[in-house]
Amino acid sequence: MASMVSVTSHRRRRTTAGLAAPAPLPPAFFDASHWGRAAGDVWSGTWLDRDAIAGRALLRLAALLRFARTHVPLYRRLYRDLPPASTVKLDELPVLHKGQLMADLPASLAAADLDRAAIDAFIADPGRIGAPLAGRYAVWTSSGSTGVPGIFVHDGDALAVYDALELLRFRGLSVGPLPAGPFMASERYAMVAAIEGHFAGIATVERLRRNFPLLAPWVRAFSVLQPLPDLVEQLNAYRPALLAAYPTMAEVLAGEQQAGRLHLSLDQLWCGGESLSTATRAQVAQAFGCRVREAYGASEFLSIAWPCRHDHLHVNADWVLLEGVDAHGRPVPPGVPSHTTLLTNLANRTQPLIRYDLGDSITVLPEPCPCGSQMPAIEVQGRSDDVLSITGRHGRAVKLMPLALATVLEDDALVNDFQLLQTGQRHLVLRLGRDERARADATCAALRAYLQRLGLAGVRIDLDPASPHREARSGKLRRVINGARGVTSG
Ligand SMILES: [Zn+2]
Repeated sequence: MASMVSVTSHRRRRTTAGLAAPAPLPPAFFDASHWGRAAGDVWSGTWLDRDAIAGRALLRLAALLRFARTHVPLYRRLYRDLPPASTVKLDELPVLHKGQLMADLPASLAAADLDRAAIDAFIADPGRIGAPLAGRYAVWTSSGSTGVPGIFVHDGDALAVYDALELLRFRGLSVGPLPAGPFMASERYAMVAAIEGHFAGIATVERLRRNFPLLAPWVRAFSVLQPLPDLVEQLNAYRPALLAAYPTMAEVLAGEQQAGRLHLSLDQLWCGGESLSTATRAQVAQAFGCRVREAYGASEFLSIAWPCRHDHLHVNADWVLLEGVDAHGRPVPPGVPSHTTLLTNLANRTQPLIRYDLGDSITVLPEPCPCGSQMPAIEVQGRSDDVLSITGRHGRAVKLMPLALATVLEDDALVNDFQLLQTGQRHLVLRLGRDERARADATCAALRAYLQRLGLAGVRIDLDPASPHREARSGKLRRVINGARGVTSG
């Protein structure tokens, strides 16, 4: 059928390119029957063998390709000259970059009821974090670590799959003995994150609180932007048993726990958003005396991989495809770190992401995991920004989280292509990309205002006329760098 549909004349194809057939409306934001169906699917898929997992993924991919070519203007244009969907292989499809997606956001959507103005109004309103747009869509933004902030629109079916993956695989309900947790309403869960924007993590916490009001007292988010002593006080008062944080934040909180200022008794600490080094994992686990688990997710797909009891990250390969590729887009073998990773989201049709360049470097582990899961196990080499440590009043060191600094620069100063270096105990150097130098004064002002809120008035900020330096080997941009570490520790 697919091949018959695709046999059209060049003239017809040229005239219809970009005019997608309207897609059927996706289900509501939260639909209990879809949620139950996704949970059943994820449950049954968890211990399938490699071939069965690949079989499920292939069927989903074929359906997604047919859908995207019919209903999404971007893919009608991109795939115009490709053979029929039934014969095309994933690695023959073009790579999709964030810039392409964001250049014409509505063209990437199968949502006739959404336009750019409605999406922009939604993400400009912090009061709507976790709420549905038009009654049925989740909209998440991502940081502009590659120079362009991302906007991602997910439908109720995709959210049901993400929730099922979190609950059944990450939380382990289909893997091991039932753990107590927020879904059992017996342990408090705290997330420390940038909570002032529509980021996937905070939007998910707020969405769950809306969908399951009984859960609300057991789930709370705390801002990474506030002064550390305030955060410590709030966490001490809330007494969570489960804590989720960026590794850099977890490391700082581990220091607070060891210094006796933070008094948490944690069952588990979850780290995500940055790569978790072995050293950080060990330090945090020792400080809190609990298990540290790594999470790997993104605004493009909330729950990409889950850690098994051997702390290997297994890709949810029945619902998301990852291809590790080199700098020329060729596949890299297991055991070799990729230059970047192409993601295909098999759960979301509202904004299909097919061979989307995620920017992360992953290594597929060559050996099978002793836990028995046949989902591929990976290591993630994510962004490696530094925590800065500025000397404040009375000689006390104040820690600056890279996530918090990035949030201030992106949201308050509206710059994305930047690099901030600490070159002395009270000295920062800012580099801005060519297109953003006109905002240099506003950027310095936003930084100063933030530093002042943390009791760090008078810190020197110099503007370096150079552009942000990318790493020579990987081409990756580290945005927050502690250049003083080697100097001050010597
Ligand atoms: Zn495993």
